[in-house]
Amino acid sequence: MSSFNFDVITLFPRAFELINNLGVITRALDKNLIDVNLYDLREYGEGAYRQVDDKPYGGGAGMVLKPEPIFKAYESIQKTTKSKTLLMTPQGKVLKQVDLARWSTLDQIIIICGQYEGFDERIRYLADEEISIGDYVLSGGEIPAISIINGLTRLLPGTLGDPDSLVDESHNSSLLEYPHYTRPLIFKDMKVPDILVSGNHEEIKLWRRQKSIERTLERRSDLISNENYKKSIQSKIIIKENDIYPDW
Ligand code: SAH
Repeated sequence: MSSFNFDVITLFPRAFELINNLGVITRALDKNLIDVNLYDLREYGEGAYRQVDDKPYGGGAGMVLKPEPIFKAYESIQKTTKSKTLLMTPQGKVLKQVDLARWSTLDQIIIICGQYEGFDERIRYLADEEISIGDYVLSGGEIPAISIINGLTRLLPGTLGDPDSLVDESHNSSLLEYPHYTRPLIFKDMKVPDILVSGNHEEIKLWRRQKSIERTLERRSDLISNENYKKSIQSKIIIKENDIYPDW
């Protein structure tokens, strides 16, 4: 067994082939840091036609995933003591970085993917948490599940080449990350801010912190929920004209 197991119940296991082509995640699979076990819902279907869905009671459009195949698939999964079951649904709690960090201390995540019109309400009974990846509706839970596998795997020790890249990044400590630049120094008249090539590490750190705060206030002030905190960091911002935003 790998150090972290993802067990996924899905009607479209082939969607998870994407995981084998995702750089860091593929490396984690190769290094045996994670295992992704797929449970093809069709194999747990009912009768000669392996039926997994049916029409909704009360009428209405679309098909609904039946409870029996999902329960059967779920019961076939060997659970660890540090395991959580997540149900993918646009009606769930919207996924945040803190959730991924919280789950990264477990050793097993079981993910149930819905399809079509959704799933029989009784499937909710299996879930520890119901998770949405955003306020929009996709056709199935596979892409949400891959998002969770991807986001969580990169937090696991040994996955990223340089674990320091996790420290400053967006959504840690409620702030978006500062802007990055790489060579060349000047590209189409757009110049890298002087401070970043000054070699003054203290100043660079301060500048990055400042940009991080500015960016968050400009784009996602909702991330900084506490009004007092917002005011206190606002007052510390010193915007230097033409520093980062030259005339381009
Ligand atoms: N009729 C349902 C939506 C069904 S979408 C409703 O209104 O709630 C089909 C399946 O795709 C869902 O069961 C869920 O597993 C998945 N899905 C769609 N959008 C999602 C999202 N934003 N986050 C997580 N899962 C989603």
